[in-house]
Amino acid sequence: MRQPVRLRAVTRSNTALAPSARWWHSEETFRELVENAHDLIYSIDLEGRFSHVNRAALRVCGYTREEMLEMNIAHLVAPECLAKARHMIQCALRGEAPELYDLDLVTKDGRRVTVEITHRLVLEDGIPVGTHGIARDITERRRAERLEQDRMRVLEMIATRQPLSEVLDHLVRMLERQNPDWRGAILLQRENRLYVASAPSLPAEFVTRLDGIRVGLASGTCAAASYWRRPVVTQDIATDPAWAELGHAALQAGLRACWSVPMITGTGRLVGALAVYQTQPGAPASSQFQLLQMTSGSAALAIDHRQMTDELAYQAHHDSLTGLPNRVLFEERLHQAIHAARRAQLQVALLYIDVDEFKLINDTLGHPVGDLMLRQVAWRLSGCIRETDTLARMSGDEFVIVAGGLQDAEGARRIAEKVLELLREPFPLDGQELFVTASVGISVFPRDGQDAGSLLRAADAAMYRAKRQGKNRLQYHTPEMRDALEERFSVETHLRRALDRQEFTLHYQPQFDLRSGRLCGYEALMRWTHPKLGAVSPARFIPVAEESGLIREMGAWALGEACQQARRWQAAGRPPSRMAVNVSAIQLSAPGFLETVREALEQTHLEPASLELEITESVLLRDVEEFARKLRDLRQLGVRISVDDFGTGYSSLSYLQSLPLDTVKLDRSFVQGLKKSRSGLPLVQAVVAMAHGLGLWVTAEGVETHQQLEAIHQTGCDFAQGYLLGMPKPPQNGPEHDALAALRLPERWSPRQD
Ligand code: C2E
Ligand code: MG
Ligand code: MG
Repeated sequence: MRQPVRLRAVTRSNTALAPSARWWHSEETFRELVENAHDLIYSIDLEGRFSHVNRAALRVCGYTREEMLEMNIAHLVAPECLAKARHMIQCALRGEAPELYDLDLVTKDGRRVTVEITHRLVLEDGIPVGTHGIARDITERRRAERLEQDRMRVLEMIATRQPLSEVLDHLVRMLERQNPDWRGAILLQRENRLYVASAPSLPAEFVTRLDGIRVGLASGTCAAASYWRRPVVTQDIATDPAWAELGHAALQAGLRACWSVPMITGTGRLVGALAVYQTQPGAPASSQFQLLQMTSGSAALAIDHRQMTDELAYQAHHDSLTGLPNRVLFEERLHQAIHAARRAQLQVALLYIDVDEFKLINDTLGHPVGDLMLRQVAWRLSGCIRETDTLARMSGDEFVIVAGGLQDAEGARRIAEKVLELLREPFPLDGQELFVTASVGISVFPRDGQDAGSLLRAADAAMYRAKRQGKNRLQYHTPEMRDALEERFSVETHLRRALDRQEFTLHYQPQFDLRSGRLCGYEALMRWTHPKLGAVSPARFIPVAEESGLIREMGAWALGEACQQARRWQAAGRPPSRMAVNVSAIQLSAPGFLETVREALEQTHLEPASLELEITESVLLRDVEEFARKLRDLRQLGVRISVDDFGTGYSSLSYLQSLPLDTVKLDRSFVQGLKKSRSGLPLVQAVVAMAHGLGLWVTAEGVETHQQLEAIHQTGCDFAQGYLLGMPKPPQNGPEHDALAALRLPERWSPRQD
């Protein structure tokens, strides 16, 4: 059990240890306290000469007592602090309440010591005879504070993406502030060499020798630290074998010691080495060593962070497949090229390169081979340009070249010809030799456009022209293309809002059965009336809608609307007829088209057999298998399929045989061929006969005259449609024009006997 603590009676021996009042008041005691104090305590006379100094003052300043008593305080204070020191002493002499001052002193061996200091007036018999001061050495505290500030600043610099060189300079200066004897350096490693990234205080000549040293054991301390991936200390450069090669240069620069720490990132990657040099031989104290390691860690962090952000920036500007600049970087470069050309009054060529039939390679040989091909194309194209030009991959099989500083537009032709020529060589791919060609569209600044956007559109339009003219060729942009482009642009802008603003309507053109002479159906034709542009013809807006993809929404609307109209007419007790709706390839190839058709039928309760989809022939050519499958699905719904504008594309009737179709619509040009002479007749007759042979119905489009009607009738055509038989009209006019047509037809009409 613990005894309660009791105050013991004061014994004699205890009284001997306790300071007595006499002891405290003795002058000797005070002298002893002052002498042994940790702080610097001294007095100076009215001139500033030291009259008393304690041991701490001697220790810190490095002078003997005799020396110090000969000195004036001004000799001790660092030059930039003299004014402050003078002010402090004057305040004390005036008897003002003492304040704390921070001052730097310079010691006998030239070191700097920071002290916190107060001065008080000393009076003798009421007369001022001088002042005495108490100073505390706060060098270490200040250094730690400074270090903390510097480290915070480094983190801030990293976070705010200051240039790496500035961050590294700051780190080196931080070391040098911590230890004025040091000259710091940071070297970055690339492959097997070290390059100086920061060495603000090392002599320039020595830095030149240091730059590019080989990692290893003969090129100094940093090279060895990188080699071993651990800190290396050279106490004396003059004797260290690691300095065999560079020692002379170092010694000439006045450097004797070097301590280096490798810079290793959090993931263990070596990025370089940090070093400090000293003019005196020696090894680091453990606190110094810690400081070096901490700094090396910060430098590695900064470098790693920068390399990571650079990597991200690179990825944002480059195409991962080919490594070429991507669209973003291309646009930047094009802007720059235009800017430079404008100042130098030169020209810039923009080449838009599209690989012909690339889709075929992808579809038949697979994407991996397609990717390989694109990489090889990219590689070959890069051989067509100068170092100052930019080759970029825009998307898929589209590449662009920006060539600046051209004297004339002809320079672009040379590049384009080289492109076509380099691609002519076969590509060894997938164990076989593949051949590709490309179509190149060229636009030139300032001729074809003043800014990046219009130059790109111009080159793109020229490239399309090259494709249409048969591919494997180059095509300059022309003013006509520009006008077409501008118009297309304005149509597209307005078209985007047309659906929401309900600017579309459908007109219906009747179709007649040539055997009975009766109305058998309608074709729904889209009409667009824009408040400013007025009525815009489908020939103008349908291609734009197709290219911009707007056709999908527009087509779905037309389908729904036409089905609804057909239902309305049926409900009004009109004779049963079919509704034909035009369908664009874009709609058909988009996923979900089958659903769109099904929905339109379900929502309007129209029988599928009453719906016919007209698909333009040229479209059918593209992807036979895929289209055949889609058409089959549609037909399974119960709708009819017809090929529109037959005869304008390339397809033959035998080709149509492989597709699930119901009707062929002979293009207007066939009917027009019958207009004056009858020379066109045998051709049409043959086509109709062959179509019938394939089990297809034939409709003649664009019948404008009685003559044509009769001729068409003779060919054995099944149905006819044209201005003669009925104009496309809004639905409210429907019954009237049917009546009209019905009236007109029998007059001149004698049903064919067959
Ligand atoms: P298309 O499907 O071949 O339509 C027939 C075009 O010929 C219509 O032109 C029609 O007004 C016109 N036409 C009819 N009879 C005669 C005639 O006797 N003589 C002459 N010279 N022309 C006649 P439109 O309405 O200008 O349509 C042009 C094309 O736009 C259509 O050709 C069709 O391919 C497309 N189109 C129209 N509406 C739509 C639609 O809703 N969707 C899609 N995808 N395309 C549509
Ligand atoms: Mg049509
Ligand atoms: Mg047509």
